[in-house]
Amino acid sequence: MSSTVAGTVPQVSEFDVVVVGSGAGALTGAYVAAARDRSVVVLEATDRLGGTSAYSGAACWLPGTQVQERAGIGDSTEAARIYLRALIGEQTAAHQDAFLQHAPALVEFLERDPAIAFEWRPFPDYFAAPGRMDSGRAINPLDLPTEDLGELAALVRPPVDRDRTGQGHSAAAPLSQGRALIGRLLLALTRAGATVRTGTRVTGLLTDGGGRVVGVEARTAEGPVRVRARRGVLLAAGGFERNAAMRAEHGVPGDAAWSMAPAESAAGEPIAAAVALGAATDLLDQAWFCPGVLHPEGSAAFTLGFRGGLVVDGTGHRYADESLPYDRMGRQMAAAPGRVPSWLVFDSRAGGQLPAISIPPLPPEEHLAAGTWVRADTLAELARQIGVPPAELTGTVERFNTFAATGVDEDFSRGEDPYGRFFAVGDGPNPCLVPVDRAPFYAARLVLSDLGTKGGLCTDPAGRVLRTDGAPIPGLYAAGNTSASMAGPVYPGPGIPIGTAMVFSSLAVQDMTGASLEPGSA
Ligand SMILES: Cc1cc2nc3c(=O)[nH]c(=O)nc-3n(C[C@H](O)[C@H](O)[C@H](O)COP(=O)(O)OP(=O)(O)OC[C@H]3O[C@@H](n4cnc5c(N)ncnc54)[C@H](O)[C@@H]3O)c2cc1C
Repeated sequence: MSSTVAGTVPQVSEFDVVVVGSGAGALTGAYVAAARDRSVVVLEATDRLGGTSAYSGAACWLPGTQVQERAGIGDSTEAARIYLRALIGEQTAAHQDAFLQHAPALVEFLERDPAIAFEWRPFPDYFAAPGRMDSGRAINPLDLPTEDLGELAALVRPPVDRDRTGQGHSAAAPLSQGRALIGRLLLALTRAGATVRTGTRVTGLLTDGGGRVVGVEARTAEGPVRVRARRGVLLAAGGFERNAAMRAEHGVPGDAAWSMAPAESAAGEPIAAAVALGAATDLLDQAWFCPGVLHPEGSAAFTLGFRGGLVVDGTGHRYADESLPYDRMGRQMAAAPGRVPSWLVFDSRAGGQLPAISIPPLPPEEHLAAGTWVRADTLAELARQIGVPPAELTGTVERFNTFAATGVDEDFSRGEDPYGRFFAVGDGPNPCLVPVDRAPFYAARLVLSDLGTKGGLCTDPAGRVLRTDGAPIPGLYAAGNTSASMAGPVYPGPGIPIGTAMVFSSLAVQDMTGASLEPGSA
């Protein structure tokens, strides 16, 4: 269904700015345009706004802003620059510098609107590298009472557990995390006069004959539409993680069915449309990876914060520090054959509950009934049930338990990094090493999931889409998972996907419209 929730009437099919997608990046770009009195339309393919951004924790890696300053955590743009350079290197140096320079101004601009407010929350950066903040530097939106959003609240994509089961928002709860970020941006941009259309799937780009992009073609329930853009088109429509054919073509590890994006999004049409105009691409085999607990119907649940148990491959051996940040653990799963599926082996000390955060969660009984988890009185029997050599699994667990007793993981150094310890609950000498010795024992099947692909259109630091010869395509911009990530194959810290999407969307809209974020300017 196509609907207009604010602003100009739908028969006006020309705007200064056309924004494709409605994640955090898209809505940030749209807000910048609307707040600076440019006419802007947000075109969303599905009937809900927010995409994967709405499912997210909404940690935004936006360093050195007034929010970290208020929290008094001692963050700085310069420390963040040192950290990014150490991890990503020089290849995207210009993007890193533009990102770091713009993040504080963007947050100041956003918080000037009464609808938008952030706070710092601890969540460590993901790598031991110079410039790291051990307690983290990501900022998060404050919860938003549903009534503040009024009828618009029904348009925000619900949390993933409710969305996958066809439920809307809980009437009792405020919008939190990703829903709060999307809700706050939506409130701000609609108050500023932006138009939002759902049920409008962009399928192609319009050009003026001279190679300039002047609008989009889209499919709606009422038929095809054309929306013209006077200043530019911003493609911020996520990646192609739900497109099995594109994943196979580009060799993205994992599976479309195991991705965390909403099933009806992330098909990659905007990337394909830009490529048809000669756009260059990069990082197409990359994603923001994570381990996923396999669910009975074939989907997966983003799993992080392992606070007990150990992970083994098909031979019954550990292969990594289970407390690694999720993208790093996912990359370990992809690094060798025989690791998908892996098994999270744990015991009964927590009543058979998974010793990790899994989103969306599913009760153990449902997993056990479906066979995605198994339970046995001995480790040898558990091994037989999952098809792993019993002697190997038993030996691996015995060795792990000696590490738990001494507090030293001689194989993978689990528990030595602040990120791993952030989630730890153990009361032994190393809180990340909890013995697995209380029958019955459990094994949960893990697959390689992702939060979205991160390869896509090549852009310059202003968000302009580049051709294969390096020249910008006039009028065409990209951000978020539609673009090749500034971070390359690295996931530096919590909030990098959304933080970069927000900054480069804002820079794109500023570039195409000449809008400034300075107070009192246009
Ligand atoms: C449980 C969970 C927690 C996470 N937590 C965090 C976190 O705290 N911080 C962080 O930075 N990242 C987090 N992530 C990852 C992050 O949510 C995504 O990587 C990011 O939101 C992607 O943003 P995007 O704007 O590129 O795409 P999306 O947010 O997915 O938005 C894309 C939108 O475009 C629409 N669209 C697609 N194709 C078309 C088309 N052809 N026409 C029109 N519209 C189209 C889609 O339907 C969708 O609504 C998390 C992910 C999950 C699943």
